[in-house]
Amino acid sequence: MADAQRFDIAIIGAGIAGSALATALGDHGLTIALVEAQSLAPPELPAACDLQHFDPRVSAITPRSKALLEGLGAWPAIEAYRQCAYRHMTVWDAGGTGGIEFDCADVNATSLGHIVENRAIVSALLERVCAAPDITAFGGSRLLACERDDNAARVRVELEGGTALEVDLLVAADGALSRVRDMMGFSTREWDYGHRAIVTTVEVEKSHRDTCWQRFLPSGPLAFLPLPGAGDRHYCSIVWSLQEGLVDNLLQLGDAEFCRELETAFESRLGRVNACARRFAFPLRQRHAIDYVQAGVALVADAAHTIHPLAGQGINLGLADVGVLAEEILAGRAQGTSPGQLQLLRRYQRRRKGENLLMMAAMDGFKALFEQDALPVRWLRNAGMRGVSRMGPLKQQLIRRAMGVG
Ligand SMILES: Cc1cc2nc3c(=O)[nH]c(=O)nc-3n(C[C@H](O)[C@H](O)[C@H](O)COP(=O)(O)OP(=O)(O)OC[C@H]3O[C@@H](n4cnc5c(N)ncnc54)[C@H](O)[C@@H]3O)c2cc1C
Repeated sequence: MADAQRFDIAIIGAGIAGSALATALGDHGLTIALVEAQSLAPPELPAACDLQHFDPRVSAITPRSKALLEGLGAWPAIEAYRQCAYRHMTVWDAGGTGGIEFDCADVNATSLGHIVENRAIVSALLERVCAAPDITAFGGSRLLACERDDNAARVRVELEGGTALEVDLLVAADGALSRVRDMMGFSTREWDYGHRAIVTTVEVEKSHRDTCWQRFLPSGPLAFLPLPGAGDRHYCSIVWSLQEGLVDNLLQLGDAEFCRELETAFESRLGRVNACARRFAFPLRQRHAIDYVQAGVALVADAAHTIHPLAGQGINLGLADVGVLAEEILAGRAQGTSPGQLQLLRRYQRRRKGENLLMMAAMDGFKALFEQDALPVRWLRNAGMRGVSRMGPLKQQLIRRAMGVG
């Protein structure tokens, strides 16, 4: 291996989680290497607001995540580009009459969250990364190998092209298929949901009324997420989770036929689905690392946990990981503790694992409950939704939990 460059911390992956962590740590006197297989230039953000120019990947950003992005100085750029504040949520069951409505007024808030295109978040964060004094960017540079050095004090990292790094802390922010997690021998519990999610953008006839819509079908949940409109043109981002066997047929349909299927599945709540952009499909797998840390190594966000997108919580949990890990590293630094110290990293794990597990269990429960077609279960869940709708405090509690402030 070539002579290694020394850093306090190497972060592998500059998606939302990795670029947020780099930004959080980039101005505190720690030397940071940010390694990303793709370019680290902030992605171009198209000005055109039409079907073909929305990022097919969007996230429902909770108020807690928004506060974190504000703290990192990234929110103003996101806001100045485009986002859609959603003030209501409507959830209903295909197999009955039950439904539940959430409104920001129920919890005296001005919105429940914001739908933001992923590339807008990454672009805003990478602008901050570029301005940070302590970050060395290794863009277009894939991690090839990592291992603890001989006396186990540091971690050595090898990048494509022969660059070698030696660091006190290696952070895996390299996503669901994390190489760092595999190479450092972390175990995971995982299972396939048997679902894939079709993701696209559609133009609909009627205004979405700043509402996130979700219909639970026996084949999986279908979400229409509100996007900014242009004049009298109304757009939504679609996440349609479906049993594996149904996906290929829908992907192969022509646009007009796909729009008709979508409109039927959505009970035409927003009138006609007039057009759709290119469709993508993502396999859905639940995955949770048994440990998030070892001495000198930490997993964050999708590298530590992936979750069904039905409640749009994945990156929100990931950003909460980032916030806590940065806090622990900076508190340690104030006391002269190495960022790779196991005790410090265990504090991060203790503070995050419980909440992540709880959310993952809740999502699994929801999914299982809504897949049941037996009449008694359908009756109970519809009665349950109507009941929750009438119970003010329980409903408020649910809303606050979903907003990340409960
Ligand atoms: C259909 C769908 C809808 C979703 N909707 C929502 C939502 O509404 N709200 C929400 O909170 N979450 C949502 N999620 C989850 C969310 O998208 C993920 O949690 C989030 O993108 C994970 O971000 P990350 O930074 O951890 O990983 P990633 O975005 O996967 O980033 C990982 C980065 O690491 C880089 N990388 C990988 N390997 C290497 C390597 N060897 N060397 C160097 N670089 C490497 C990659 O290039 C990439 O840039 C959704 C997920 C899906 C599938």
